Amino acid sequence: AKENGRNGYQFHTLELTRAAENRQALESRLHRAITAEEFELYYQPQVDVASGRTLGFEALVRWRPESGEGVSPAVFIPLLEETGLILALGDWVLHEACRQAVRWRAAGLDKVPVSVNLSPRQFQHLDVVELVRQALADSGLPGELLELEITEGALMAQNLETQERLGELKALGVQLAVDDFGTGYSSLAYLSRFPIDKLKIDKSFIDGLGQDARADKIVATIIAMGQGLDLRVVAEGVENASQLELLRSLGCDAVQGYLCGRPVPAALAQVRLAREQAA
Ligand code: C2E
Ligand code: CA
Ligand code: CA
Ligand code: CA
Repeated sequence: AKENGRNGYQFHTLELTRAAENRQALESRLHRAITAEEFELYYQPQVDVASGRTLGFEALVRWRPESGEGVSPAVFIPLLEETGLILALGDWVLHEACRQAVRWRAAGLDKVPVSVNLSPRQFQHLDVVELVRQALADSGLPGELLELEITEGALMAQNLETQERLGELKALGVQLAVDDFGTGYSSLAYLSRFPIDKLKIDKSFIDGLGQDARADKIVATIIAMGQGLDLRVVAEGVENASQLELLRSLGCDAVQGYLCGRPVPAALAQVRLAREQAA
């Protein structure tokens, strides 16, 4: 038996072989999917705790294969990341999300910022700043309406260049969010050095809210720290009203989760916005 570092599952040799075969099959399907444009973006609202209004949407990729079963991004993103194909898909995501934000504006809706996930490999790519600049220029989206989500792990993996790269991204006007905050085993020192705008508290902490006194304290501490550092704080994976109430009492700015809205296709996200803005 061998340990799989990513999730700690135990695999026997046969299972490992089978997994490798599946993996290879999946990999070549993904390769074709990128050229066949089998991907679609869904949008999940981030909601203001005080007013209940939509503050923006996170773009989340979905795979709609022409044949065969779709696979969760939690499975295929890491695979694309390993093979480097994430660069091609990530660039499409960036362009498409920017175009969508422009379409919403063209449809007469107020400013709706859109958040895009940058994978570690994308963030480490030498041309990342240029790629973001191009997505903004091609779509005509003002930088302020684009937010980039970078995981804490990706921020930490870097050295001196990280600070410079983040500075260049900020110079484009974009917002920067730390994704999966609290899971990166980091020193927190980076928060004072990097030009970060937002912390997204990882769902794993939100899951324990109201049930696990330690989770409550951790979340309270992150929110207080965010306020002290003038960062916006978003709680991820909020699924029930008691979590929302607790977050409200702790002073959390915004929430994202099934309670307030699942990820939906752009057209449905637009319906939500139009209804809100007409009210
Ligand atoms: P993430 O960036 O942390 O995104 C949040 C994930 O949590 C999404 O899963 C979302 O659908 C899910 N989620 C939101 N609210 C709830 C909730 O209340 N309960 C539960 N159980 N789940 C909730 P999704 O869309 O399956 O994406 C999984 C991960 O795949 C993302 O985690 C992100 O790391 C990655 N990903 C998705 N789209 C992209 C993309 O376009 N580019 C990159 N680089 N990564 C992406
Ligand atoms: Ca994210
Ligand atoms: Ca996240
Ligand atoms: Ca996550």
